[in-house]
Amino acid sequence: MNHCFVDNFCVASVSSHCDQRCGQRNHIPSDIPIYDGHIHLNQMTSKIQSDLLSIKVTPPIRQFYFINNNHKPDEWQIPNPSLNSSHVHIRSTIGIHPKYFTPKSLYQTLDNLRTYLEISHHNQSPENKIVAVGECGLDETSTTSIKHQIFVFEKQIDLAMQFDLPIVLHCRGSHLYKKLFDCLKSRISDKNQRLHWHCINSNANLYIVDLFLNQFPNSYIGLNGSITYETNFENTLMFKNWLIDRSRYLPDRLIFETDYPYLSPRNLHGTYDPSCALLATSEYLSKTIDDTNQNALSYLQFSNRNIETMYAL
Ligand SMILES: [Zn+2]
Ligand SMILES: [Zn+2]
Ligand SMILES: [Zn+2]
Repeated sequence: MNHCFVDNFCVASVSSHCDQRCGQRNHIPSDIPIYDGHIHLNQMTSKIQSDLLSIKVTPPIRQFYFINNNHKPDEWQIPNPSLNSSHVHIRSTIGIHPKYFTPKSLYQTLDNLRTYLEISHHNQSPENKIVAVGECGLDETSTTSIKHQIFVFEKQIDLAMQFDLPIVLHCRGSHLYKKLFDCLKSRISDKNQRLHWHCINSNANLYIVDLFLNQFPNSYIGLNGSITYETNFENTLMFKNWLIDRSRYLPDRLIFETDYPYLSPRNLHGTYDPSCALLATSEYLSKTIDDTNQNALSYLQFSNRNIETMYAL
């Protein structure tokens, strides 16, 4: 299947056995599962059906795990898309994204969130359990005031702690990173709180990201297709150096994610199939760091392990 490809990678091996005569250097052994640490599967369901080509190949050769972020209160009722089969595992988060709430109905929305968390808390079956609160945080492109955004964010931190759940963080606007970090520090009583700061790229305030990683030992950063964009030369260079300087610690702190249907990696050619997109991000990282002891596959496996720990899968 050649619906998409990544440099040096046999993408066909994501979904089917390859006799290795394809000429590509790297294949993905079928005992390595694919974990997407952050995805939005509820949007555009019909498009999803056509994009998730890899997981639909039969007979299936590997396991797929998706951390599906339900970040829009008006979509909380929509059930997970019916991709569920024995080799596809969708685990859901629930939260209020800073762009998708109205201050007018805020208390009702927060009340509903608590109810969903309460129900999930008493639910025994793992596939119906909510695995995290979020994505939530701050966003400079939101029409709602920062004051309101902080209020909603802090309420969600409190709920996560109350239900003993990890938090998925979203921050857009590098000047907001400090504000978000201050909220975390002032609100979180247990330093061991699990946190996934998703979508860290060359636009991030890396100084704050370092403080965040130091402050919370069970925190992770999410890397997705946006790390491949290289839109601003100076920022890109800074970000690449940051990755290289922290390459010793990254295996313990990175999570690969797609944020599908957003942020398709630049080095993924053809269809934006999220399962292949993870490889494209991993391949870019491995080329950037250029460590002889690591490669795209080893980073993928570190990320898999970190997603398992973060979301208690
Ligand atoms: Zn091949
Ligand atoms: Zn986000
Ligand atoms: Zn997202």
